[in-house]
Amino acid sequence: MATKQFQAESKRLLEMMINSIYTQKEIFLRELISNASDAIDKMYYKALVEDQLTFQSEDYFIKITADKENRTLTISDTGIGMTQEDLENNLGIIANSGSFAFKNENELKDGHNIIGQFGVGFYSAFMVADKISVITKAWGSEQAYKWESEGADGYTIELAEKDSVGTDIILHIRENTEEDTYDEYLEEYRLRTIIKKYSDFIRYPIKMDVKTQ
Ligand code: ADP
Ligand code: MG
Repeated sequence: MATKQFQAESKRLLEMMINSIYTQKEIFLRELISNASDAIDKMYYKALVEDQLTFQSEDYFIKITADKENRTLTISDTGIGMTQEDLENNLGIIANSGSFAFKNENELKDGHNIIGQFGVGFYSAFMVADKISVITKAWGSEQAYKWESEGADGYTIELAEKDSVGTDIILHIRENTEEDTYDEYLEEYRLRTIIKKYSDFIRYPIKMDVKTQ
C-alpha cells in the first residue's frame, strides 16, 4: 500500500501538533466533536432537501469510547461520512480546512496565536495520538474506507468494512513520557470534564462508553 504525502503546509502544522508546542492538549476533543457535529448537520440539511430521507433525531448522535487496554479513544458519529475523494481532499490537505485556509507564514511560526484564536481542526488529535485511523462510510456510498496516519510521514487509504453511514475516528493514545502524561484521555471523568467545558452547546447527544478491559 502506497503512503501518500501531506501537502507542505499540512506537514508543518502536523509537526507543530506532534511536538505539542501548545499546552492545552485537551482541545483536540472539542475539535473532533465539532467535526462530528458538522457531519450530522450535513445529514440534517440533506434530509430537508431529499424526499426519501427523513431526519429521525434518535439515529443521530456522537459516541466517545475509551478502551484502556488497547489505549484507544474513538469518536464516532452517525453523520454524512467521507468518500475516498473526501478523505484525500479533507484530511490530506490542510488548506481545505475552513479554519486554516487564511493563515500566513508568520502566524504559522507562532502556534499559540493560531490555536488560541481559531480551531486547528482534525490534526490537533496528533497532540495526544501517535496514530490515527479513520473508518468512514459516506451517505449514498456502498464502500467504506480506512484512512491512517502516524504523523508527518504521510497517510494511507484502503478499503474497509463498516455497516452504517458515518465516521469512527480512532486515536491511538500516546504512551506517557517524563514530561507529559496521556493516560487521562482514557479516563471517563476527565473526558466528561473536557466535554462539559468545550462541547456543552453541541445539539446532538454525546454518549460515553468506557471499557476497562
Ligand atoms: P474544519 O472543520 O475547519 O473544516 P478540520 O481540520 O476540523 O477543519 O476538518 C477538515 C475536514 O475534514 C472537514 O471540513 C470535513 O470535511 C472533514 N471531516 C473531519 N471530520 C469529519 C467527520 N467526523 N465526518 C465527516 N467529515 C469530516
Ligand atoms: Mg473542524
